[in-house]
Amino acid sequence: MQDILIQNALSIEKSVSGRRGIRFEKPAASPQTYLPVRYLRTHTPRLPQMSELDTVRHFTNLSRQNYCLDSHFYPLGSCTMKYNPKAYDVLSALEPLTQAHPFAPEEAVQGTLEILYNLQELLKEITGLAAFTLQPAAGAQGELTGILAARAYFDAQKDKKRTEVIVPDTAHGTNPATSHMAGYTVVNIKSGPDGCVDKAALRQALSERTAVVMLTVPNTVGLFEKDIREIADMVHASGALLYMDGANFNALIGAVKPASFGIDLMHLNLHKTFAAPHGGGGPGAGPVGANEKLAPFLPRPTVERKNGKFSLCAKLPKSLGRMKAFYGNIAVCIRAYCFLRQYDGQTLKEVAENAVLNANYVRVCLQHAFPAFFNAPCMHECVLTLNKEKMNGVRTADIAKRLLDYGFYAPTIYFPLIVPEAMMIEPTETENKQMLDAFIQAMQRIFAEAQQEPQTVHDAPHAQPVARIDEVSAAREPNLRW
Ligand SMILES: *Cc1c(COP(=O)(O)O)cnc(C)c1O
Repeated sequence: MQDILIQNALSIEKSVSGRRGIRFEKPAASPQTYLPVRYLRTHTPRLPQMSELDTVRHFTNLSRQNYCLDSHFYPLGSCTMKYNPKAYDVLSALEPLTQAHPFAPEEAVQGTLEILYNLQELLKEITGLAAFTLQPAAGAQGELTGILAARAYFDAQKDKKRTEVIVPDTAHGTNPATSHMAGYTVVNIKSGPDGCVDKAALRQALSERTAVVMLTVPNTVGLFEKDIREIADMVHASGALLYMDGANFNALIGAVKPASFGIDLMHLNLHKTFAAPHGGGGPGAGPVGANEKLAPFLPRPTVERKNGKFSLCAKLPKSLGRMKAFYGNIAVCIRAYCFLRQYDGQTLKEVAENAVLNANYVRVCLQHAFPAFFNAPCMHECVLTLNKEKMNGVRTADIAKRLLDYGFYAPTIYFPLIVPEAMMIEPTETENKQMLDAFIQAMQRIFAEAQQEPQTVHDAPHAQPVARIDEVSAAREPNLRW
């Protein structure tokens, strides 16, 4: 352990006076020739003095302590950490695409516009919806776009009394946050014993004050809302709209078109299902689709085709306006386009089938050690819990830390909130059976350790340079400087 710490000590500690990477020749002219005196340094900056080799090793070794998809299985539930072919990165980085200036005239960027147009069309086809905007930069911004489109719709009807958005307790946390940000009052409803929307509770909550019902499908306990058609009818009968959070479309892609169960608006996360890298705070894309009724209220401009030419259409009088500078995160859209062009309808359906199969395989293989909270077939992820009597005080956080010792990134833990000691495991379709078996075996060993040597699990991780950090202070009061 000590060795690891020394090896990775901050480079400033490794500094040895006089050690150099590159030696530059002294400039012929003095710096004053180029810069006014007041901008010149009076002291030498305090930088680590290191050789190039030591510096390369320092950063390489730091990077190897990361857990990432290219090195480890990463079953982070609700995030769809699937493998994305490197070819998509290469294609999205082609110069004609990356060098296009956002203010370039339409004639000069016909290729980029064609890709965006085609992507809109493909998203329409797989969802059955009438229109799509590619502007939103993330799932959460997609939600905000959808809810603002709903508000624009009610404003156009001069319907001012609809001030509420109904959100079940199995919704993603961004759903109530979005509704609140858009100025609505959030009405929470509890789920039934089966983990799905309690229709009686929904009926009671619906009124002439309801603007939108926001459903996460599949919901955050990994289940499909089996009564969604009936729910859509109830929502529409009360004059409200049905919004679907489709961030986890990996479970449904190619298998079902959400328009067929009566939704009005939805968003997709291109950086989850559609093979754009996800995580590290990088760019995302959360396109929003709408049915005929809501389409006129989506953001402008949209990409249109007329006589074989592509253009940005801003003539949408009812549109809620712009949601993002320029046209969205185009590089993410290009990767999604590559993904959709690589698969035909049948193979897209296999993506969903294998994602669902893998999650159910993990669920069933682990049921004796870690039971599923809702004992029913799940969609793309399974939500497991602990059998407290058997765990000797070992908690979910301990299991997550111990998994790191076994070479696996941890699943999402303590979410969804309605499941005690939750572990939300999303294997995705890109993992093979050998990898799933290795993960299952690690989980079973941790379960056995909880019986025989619970302290080992309590004290985990044992093979990491830092063990348990104060995660709350790390997020709230980050100390990013040495
Ligand atoms: C990931 C996720 C979101 C939020 O997406 P971001 O791109 O992180 O903003 C919303 N809803 C669900 C169900 C999700 O899984």
